[in-house]
Amino acid sequence: MSLNQLTIHDAADGIANAAFSSQELLEAVHRQIARVDDTVQAYHTVLTDPAKTSVLSDKAGSLLQGIPLGVKDNICTEGVVTTCGSKMLENFVPPYNATVMTRLEEHGAVLVGKTNMDEFAMGSSTEHSAFQPTRNPWDLGRIPGGSSGGSAAAVAAHECIAALGSDTGGSIRQPAACCGVVGMKPTYGRVSRYGLIAYASSLDQIGPLTKDVTDAAIMLEAIAGHDPKDSTSATIPVPTIVKALHRDMSEIRIGIPDEYFAEGLDSDVNDGVRAALQVLISRGAKPQAVSLLTTPYGIATYYLIATAEASSNLARYDGVKYGYRSSQSQDLLEMYCQTRKEGFGRETQRRIMLGTYALSAGYYDAYYGKAQQAREMIRSDFETAFQEVDVIVTPTMPTPAFRLGEKTDDPVQMYLSDIYTISANLGGFPAISIPCAMSRDGLPIGMQIMGRWFDELTLLQVAFAFEQETDWHLKRAPISEDSNG
Ligand code: GLN
Repeated sequence: MSLNQLTIHDAADGIANAAFSSQELLEAVHRQIARVDDTVQAYHTVLTDPAKTSVLSDKAGSLLQGIPLGVKDNICTEGVVTTCGSKMLENFVPPYNATVMTRLEEHGAVLVGKTNMDEFAMGSSTEHSAFQPTRNPWDLGRIPGGSSGGSAAAVAAHECIAALGSDTGGSIRQPAACCGVVGMKPTYGRVSRYGLIAYASSLDQIGPLTKDVTDAAIMLEAIAGHDPKDSTSATIPVPTIVKALHRDMSEIRIGIPDEYFAEGLDSDVNDGVRAALQVLISRGAKPQAVSLLTTPYGIATYYLIATAEASSNLARYDGVKYGYRSSQSQDLLEMYCQTRKEGFGRETQRRIMLGTYALSAGYYDAYYGKAQQAREMIRSDFETAFQEVDVIVTPTMPTPAFRLGEKTDDPVQMYLSDIYTISANLGGFPAISIPCAMSRDGLPIGMQIMGRWFDELTLLQVAFAFEQETDWHLKRAPISEDSNG
């Protein structure tokens, strides 16, 4: 096995035991990028200047010491271009680091590059990137999921050891499912959003994409915790996670909602997730039916709230202070209009228009106001369910990865990819996707485990128990195999 294929915990052991150096690890990652990234197109920017990567040292200590990571291109990196997948920010070089970057650096991690994404994190396929589509390492004709498709593909193709993504409606978990890796959205408020370029501020969270559950726990421990720079970050202490992953499954009650195994669910996904549930049950977990009757309202609620918040957050891109400015205008008003017309892609413009409409006088109560009420109903549906069960298990995505171009002309079909993931954002609770099966076509299938607010530990324990019994997390995408040492 070449070094770039290692997990964080195995790489950290190797470095600690002097089996290899962090420099050798980084070189193996760079060789893999050189070998496959022209095809996969997971990265927008790869850092080659050693002065820009953090200090390399093999000193023992933190579990991320010397670990090469990919970071989604909507997380601000000081001195390193951060495009958010948009022409609008094509040349934007942040003068400061996001808090998660500061924390990763404090833990000794090395930034390999910035990963491709749907523009402003709006999308489920990474095809809305202004620069390039990313391809799924399992099948190059298919999407890697989105919007953190670059991060998921980079992990699956072993072009980094682990990565960060952001999740507003599923953008970590859905690409993780498509690419056969682990992806976790923490509880809203668990991880600082300072320096994350805002899409929908009441839904956005940063989280890890990794090769296994232990690595997700390591990354979460490194980035979680209160940050005075983000007023929505919680002061609730972060428990010990990595050392607490073993848990007796007979203490766990698993909720299984019928509404998530309904019409529109691909039969391979249904069979795969149900078989995975049996694995947990055979370890002693107790299954229990739960009903989540508000499920059908999820998509409409999400796409009203997310677009409303986006229309307000994206108002700042007007060509005045930073970002793209059109050269085609005679006066100020024309400059605003041309800048936004030329700088934003079609999907982003669609979302801004939808959101502006939902917030406009005369429609506010009927759309945005109603969506807020529905959001509260969805949240309370889960609160009731979590009084009876410890976790809720569902598919992550209704189908395996679809083909490039298959849904680009049909936004509603694209939006339906998020049907199982958006509730965790609307409700604010944590959720993880882990690889749990393969489709008949050889594509990864993800199982989603949702948990109570600030109880990331329990869902990681359930995911870890599943991983102990199975080897789905060890399967490798064909393109990731190489002979580099
Ligand atoms: N696919 C969803 C959207 O387009 C979710 C995106 C995300 O989580 N950032 O809004």
